[in-house]
Amino acid sequence: VPELPDVEGFRRLLEKHGTGHRVQRVEVPDPAVLHNTNPQGLGRSLRGRRLDEPSRHGKWLRAPFGTSTVLFHFGMTGALVWVTNEEFHPHDRVCIVLDDGELRYRDQRKLKGVWLAHDDREASDIMGSLGPDALGLSRQDLGDRLGGRRGRLKAVLMDQEVIAGLGNILSDEILWQARLDPSTSSRELTSPDLDRLHRVMQRVLRESVKLGFIPPEPGWLAGVRDADPPRCPRCGYPLRSQRIAGRTSWLCPPCQLGSGDR
Ligand SMILES: [Zn+2]
Repeated sequence: VPELPDVEGFRRLLEKHGTGHRVQRVEVPDPAVLHNTNPQGLGRSLRGRRLDEPSRHGKWLRAPFGTSTVLFHFGMTGALVWVTNEEFHPHDRVCIVLDDGELRYRDQRKLKGVWLAHDDREASDIMGSLGPDALGLSRQDLGDRLGGRRGRLKAVLMDQEVIAGLGNILSDEILWQARLDPSTSSRELTSPDLDRLHRVMQRVLRESVKLGFIPPEPGWLAGVRDADPPRCPRCGYPLRSQRIAGRTSWLCPPCQLGSGDR
């Protein structure tokens, strides 16, 4: 599932291969992923233009081509891939052909997609109200953003209007590494809790961003989520699952709730 680190990886790919290169044409094998334009409109806006510096906010990727900007959101299964001389993959939905290769938006489930903005204002309207990006968020800003919110900590962390970029897997990882209960009220965090949450969040983000994904490695919760049964990488206790904000959360009762029957 693409979260901040994955989208940052797509941004780097775009920057490395695309920046400064000119659009030859646009092919749209599946127009259903275009939200506010059509293949002709997208082609007209991009053809002959060069890609400027791409940027990311939360899970959104912005690719500016002169005055027009293409906005990508990757939903649950999307990716951006760079190919040269390759047949279409069955899940290739939009293909921007540059002078030396192709940029493809590939997505199986098509929960989000591709938008076209003609100016900054339109781009902001499309992305909606977003909190500050989670990567590099200061301790002060984290406290301010969480302090005024009702609701369970994990739900608040995943709310893109509060902080942009964290999804289900990152939030579970951060809360497990910081030994915090996902169901605690975000307003009731103590100052030491917030210090720890901030430190862990930035470390998890830095390490994941470097790779372009959340590492399913020993010592990370992400490394055991798919095990059967999943056990805490720290203490070995069986993890417990819980529904929060419509998503499955994994947590370790002894590490995060101070309970468990051992
Ligand atoms: Zn544990």
